[in-house]
Amino acid sequence: MIGFSLTEEQEQLRDLAHEFAANEMRPASPHHDQTGEYPWEIIKKAHEIGLMNTHIPERWGGLGLGALDATIISEEIAWGCTGIGTAMEANSLALQPVIEGASDYLMEKYVAPMVETPTMAAYAVTEPGAGSDVAGMRSTAVRKGDHYVLNGSKMWITNAGVAEWFFVVAYTDRGANYKGMTAFLVEKGWKGVEVGKKEWNMGQRCSDTRGVTFADVEVPVEHVVGTEGQGWKLAMGAFDHTRPVVASAAVGLARAAMEHAAAYSLERQAMGKPIAMHQAVSFMIADMAKDIEAARLLVRQAAWLKDNHQNNTMHASMAKAFAADAAHRIASDAVQVFGGYGFNTEYPVEKLLRDSKIFQIYEGTSQIQRLIIARELLMRGR
Ligand SMILES: Cc1cc2nc3c(=O)[nH]c(=O)nc-3n(C[C@H](O)[C@H](O)[C@H](O)COP(=O)(O)OP(=O)(O)OC[C@H]3O[C@@H](n4cnc5c(N)ncnc54)[C@H](O)[C@@H]3O)c2cc1C
Repeated sequence: MIGFSLTEEQEQLRDLAHEFAANEMRPASPHHDQTGEYPWEIIKKAHEIGLMNTHIPERWGGLGLGALDATIISEEIAWGCTGIGTAMEANSLALQPVIEGASDYLMEKYVAPMVETPTMAAYAVTEPGAGSDVAGMRSTAVRKGDHYVLNGSKMWITNAGVAEWFFVVAYTDRGANYKGMTAFLVEKGWKGVEVGKKEWNMGQRCSDTRGVTFADVEVPVEHVVGTEGQGWKLAMGAFDHTRPVVASAAVGLARAAMEHAAAYSLERQAMGKPIAMHQAVSFMIADMAKDIEAARLLVRQAAWLKDNHQNNTMHASMAKAFAADAAHRIASDAVQVFGGYGFNTEYPVEKLLRDSKIFQIYEGTSQIQRLIIARELLMRGR
């Protein structure tokens, strides 16, 4: 049975997120892009109306919504502004492996309060010398009685400057390769945790990205997420939920770019008619629409598989790679449709082009998604 309609609840969720994006995010978006100011007020409002942390299970007071629901919200939020959207969504990435693996003690102490209070968390896996090559990380955690001593440096950590806690992965047994990695929940205020300066990025500028250093940080054994040696599985497994959500954000950005391009093409005259009436322009817009539809279908299939407890690793990577590449291409074509005005900061599409690039890099580059697709297809026969 195949169905393409949303439930009544999902339509309500989409409309709520769209209204929020139109009324709260779009008007504030240029200010946050120009200043890089963290969008705290918008995040607090989003939290208040139930658009954040939607996958916290009902058992811990959350909404317990699934991956498909999250993609529906994410597309609308990204249509509003992906800088603000990434600042909001980074919480989901930090929460996902904790929800999957944490003890009741950690869930009660750190996750359940996030339902009532808009606190932020960060997923700290990438290192200065190891991004795609996660197994190349150098961070270590050595057990000493009732605690571990954590040392290492993490890089490009979204929300690092505002996070109350970090999901951190480090080697507890380097000889065991990826099976020797362990995940920890580390509070920002613990001795030895140092957060670096805010990075000034090409796009999505109000999303707070920083390095974090851990120097002889004493992490109590109760702060292991899952069990020793499960770090890799938890950190990578989280992407099955979050990659469709990030891909959906790319769809939202692409939709915004297409809408701007379509409206402009009907207004702007060249050689006696609206540029939309020149086939070279209308075909660019037709290609945008086609790729947005295809990307959304991949997103919803990947999310549906996850919600229905089926392996979706390959489909999550397909959705992420396709949507990210499409969003960057569509944003670039939107600039093309605007001509010289597209290159200017007075018009919305140059920001969309800058914001779109990161979709091909974070949560696994477009090359790494292809690596995963090929591995799943050729080695595992999916
Ligand atoms: C704004 C921003 C936010 C981020 N947020 C987070 C976060 O919250 N938490 C976190 O842990 N990380 C985060 N990251 C890190 C991000 O996930 C990494 O930057 C990304 O995985 C790429 O790693 P790298 O930068 O080390 O590039 P590298 O791994 O050095 O890659 C460089 C190039 O080589 C290619 N490449 C590498 N290996 C292969 C291969 N085997 N086959 C083919 N091509 C390959 C890559 O595709 C890329 O084009 C963020 C990054 C940015 C820029």
